[in-house]
Parts: sequence; C-alpha cells; structure tokens
Amino acid sequence: MTVTRSLQVIEPTPLRAEVIHGFGRGSKVLGFPTANMRIRWDTNEPSSPLTDEESAVLSFARDINTGIYAAYACVDDGPDPGVYKVAMSVGWNPTFDDLKTKTIEPWILHDYDEDFYGCHLRLLVVAYIRPEVKFNSFDELIQEIRADGDFCSMQLDTPELSALRSHSFFAPRPALPVLDCAAIASAESAEDPAIRALHGACIESGFFVIENHGVSNQLIDRAFDAATGFFSLSDEEKAQHQATAESGYKGYTPVGGSHNCSPNSVAPERKETFYFGGQGGWTETVVDYQVEGFGDVCVEFHSEMLKVSRTLFKGLSLALGCEADFFETHAGQDPAANVLLATYPPVNSGETSCGAHTDCGFLTMLCSNGGRGLQVRSTDGTWISVASSRYKFVCNLGDLAAYWSNGVYQSTPHRVQNDSTTDRQSWIFFNNLDPNAQIKPIGAEAQELEAMTCGEYVSRKLQSMRNNFKDCPETDVKDPEWSEVVEAKAL
Ligand code: ADP
Ligand code: MG
Repeated sequence: MTVTRSLQVIEPTPLRAEVIHGFGRGSKVLGFPTANMRIRWDTNEPSSPLTDEESAVLSFARDINTGIYAAYACVDDGPDPGVYKVAMSVGWNPTFDDLKTKTIEPWILHDYDEDFYGCHLRLLVVAYIRPEVKFNSFDELIQEIRADGDFCSMQLDTPELSALRSHSFFAPRPALPVLDCAAIASAESAEDPAIRALHGACIESGFFVIENHGVSNQLIDRAFDAATGFFSLSDEEKAQHQATAESGYKGYTPVGGSHNCSPNSVAPERKETFYFGGQGGWTETVVDYQVEGFGDVCVEFHSEMLKVSRTLFKGLSLALGCEADFFETHAGQDPAANVLLATYPPVNSGETSCGAHTDCGFLTMLCSNGGRGLQVRSTDGTWISVASSRYKFVCNLGDLAAYWSNGVYQSTPHRVQNDSTTDRQSWIFFNNLDPNAQIKPIGAEAQELEAMTCGEYVSRKLQSMRNNFKDCPETDVKDPEWSEVVEAKAL
C-alpha cells in the first residue's frame, strides 16, 4: 500500500487534556508510545458540565478529519518541561478493530524518563499530514508510523512551523513559591535564605506554599475522610449543628446559608461549611456528631496547624526585622485560631464557589483534596489558578498582617471557582492572633495609625462581610471580575 504525505498547515489549534491509559499497545506492540488524551464523550452528563478545555478537545475530536497530524506538545508538571515535536493520530486506528470511539494519540518525538499518566498535555496542532489508512499487517503499520514520525520531525523543523514553539500557549506559567517550613523553624536571622524567601513572598503577594511542615499525611488523610463523612450526613442531621450568631458562627452552614465572600457574588455562593475553633478552651464544642472520630480529628488538626502557624510567626518576626518571638510575645499567646471546613460542589453556569475577597485576619493556611479551584489575583489584575495539594499547604496573609507590617506585606484578593466535576474540599486554618493584643504596626509612627486591638480590627472587617450578604441585590448573577484565568504550575 502506498501512503502519501503532504504538509497542509492549519490554524494552530491549542488543546489541553489529561493523559489517560489506553490499550498499552503503543509501546508494547508497535514501539511508539502514544499519550491518549481524555475526550469527554459523556457531554450530556448534567452533573458535570464540560469545561472550556474539554469542549475544545471534544469538538476537535468530533469535527476534524481522521488521520495523522503534526503538532508541538509539552507535558504540564510532567517529567520534563520542554516543548517537543509530535506525530499524532486522530481516529479509530482501523488496523485494530477494538476501538469504539475516536482517539487522539500524540507520539511525542522525545524520550521521556517516565510515564506521565494523569498529567495534562498541552498540544498545539499545526498541520495535517495524511488520511487514516487500514494496514494489512503490524509490520506495515510500524513502518508507516516511523515514516510519519520522520516526516513530521522534518516539517516541524522548518522556520515557519518552528516559530510556533514560542506560541503563547506554551508560555511559562506562574507558580507560587514553595517554602521549606523546617528551614524557617531553624532559621535565626533575617539573612537566612528561608526567611528571605518568606519575606519576598509576603512582599510580592502574601501567598506561598509550605512543605516540610511536620503535619503527617496520615492526619491529613483522616481529616479529609472525616469531613467527607460529616458532609455526607443528611441535611436534617447537619442542620442540628447549624451555625448561628449566638454560636459565634461556629457549626454547620448549608449552601446559601452564610454571607458571600464577595459583594459582587450576587447569587449565594456554592459552599457548604463547618466552622470550629477559637481561643483556648474551645475543644469541648466539637464532638463526633454521627461521624466516628470527627471530633478528635478536628482537635488534632487544629493543634497541629497552630504549631505550624507559630513557626511562620517566628519567620515573619525575623523577616520584619524583629526578635524571633515578636509576634508570639505581643499577640500569639492565646490566639483566635479557627478552622473552616469547606466543601465546594461543582458550580453551575452563572454560579461562583467563593467570590473575590481578601482575608481579614492574619494568617491563613489551607490544604485541599487536590485539583484546581483557588485563584489568586496577580499584580497585573489577571487571575492565577493555583493547583492545590493535599499535603502541602497554600498560605496567605490577611488584612491584619498587611496592617501589622505597615503595608510592607500584601493581603491579596483570591477566590474559589470549582468548575471541575467533583467536590472540592478544603481544611482552612486561620490564626488571627490574640484578640486583646494591641496592634503595633511595625515601622509606623505610633500616631499615624488608629490604636486598635486585633479583635476589633478583625470583627469590623468580618461584620462588613456579613452585611454584604444581606445587602445582596438579586439582579445580575455573576461577579463581573470573572475573566480569563491563567493556570499556575501544579505544586
Ligand atoms: P497507552 O495505550 O496507555 O497510551 P502506550 O503504550 O501508548 O500506552 O504508552 C503511552 C504512555 O507512554 C503515555 O501515556 C506516556 O505516559 C508515556 N510516554 C513516554 N514517552 C512518550 C512519548 N514520547 N510520547 C507519548 N507518550 C509517551
Ligand atoms: Mg497510547
């Protein structure tokens, strides 16, 4: 059978999808691994609407002619960040007869050290090469795939196509700095590299990630299991533990039952929460409810996170040029430390999970059951989507920290939008310092700033957020700020 190839350049088409397991025969039978891309054929599944990326991949698979294409690809967060040439098959691979649906299978013309199932592949399809052909033998198929690879490789090296390697689709993505908490714990001065990194992150955005924090993976796993157990209780059962103004908003709040995080979110934000903690002596208030071990895990999680926050306070004291125990001595002895357990169900069109806001307290640390959803506003106003990790904590400074630091540190707006298909769950720890401690803005003349306690500062801000919910007009449905979101590197 003669196969002819020619280059038909097409409008560069960006596709991004997860790499999933196929039949494994690319590498085993043919000797050419092809990274199968996830295609959402279940488009009518109302509980999980397609994301923009999924729609783009689906329409490409549906509409484009079957055959071999040339492309460039890079694997997000994979073994290797390079942009490489690709020979790609789109279709049913008629030489095999067990394929029920079309596939998109890029053979990246590069040797990777390891597999990258579960990673996302960015693919820029740039040319059509030849139609799909049914070969009579595997030998023939193998020979032609090799020739496809050679042809694509040569064409993709021409200056015209090669320029597309620097297409904005492959632009490096921003990432939050990842800080080593153990190094912060052992640092002794502002010059220590760990403290300089912390200082830099707090000046830049107040957002950073910590690893090596000492909270065990096992505790975190137990925490997520317990929370899943709690949120799976019936509405009636959960309603027995309803948060109220009298309970200090501690307890359970259903979707739509609490204030919105942003005054621009006009529809009730799609979050279901359980709130607990406080100053010392709160532990009696959390019990198991109907979930075995729930109360214990809440208490343990709180106490472990409190330790981590003390380490960060020490780091922040040094970073701001104070003695290591500055925050601990002035405001850290009996802090108001609370935990918000939040479940964000997938949003429907027009809904938000949690609108743009800054945190009103001092320090927030969260771990999430993975996936994307958290978005942080960058200095140029674009929103950066930050992947969450179960075992590394995303930390951020709130307004109280910005105030204490006399504006040197940032309290940056962020929001949550769960446009995935599964619930996002977060354990969010807030340390808002001792409510009775007088705020001593560092470096400010005493008379420049209003004398205030930490408690006064935080409750003023909180009250204005709670008022926002009552004042919600019912008209437009969406925060006008929702716009293009840039994906950050996964942790
Ligand atoms: P499957 O049938 O699951 O696609 P393959 O035998 O075709 O299995 O192997 C594909 C897997 O090999 C990809 O998912 C990827 O993780 C890995 N892989 C390693 N190198 C490459 C490469 N150069 N191009 C595509 N996939 C590669
Ligand atoms: Mg394959």
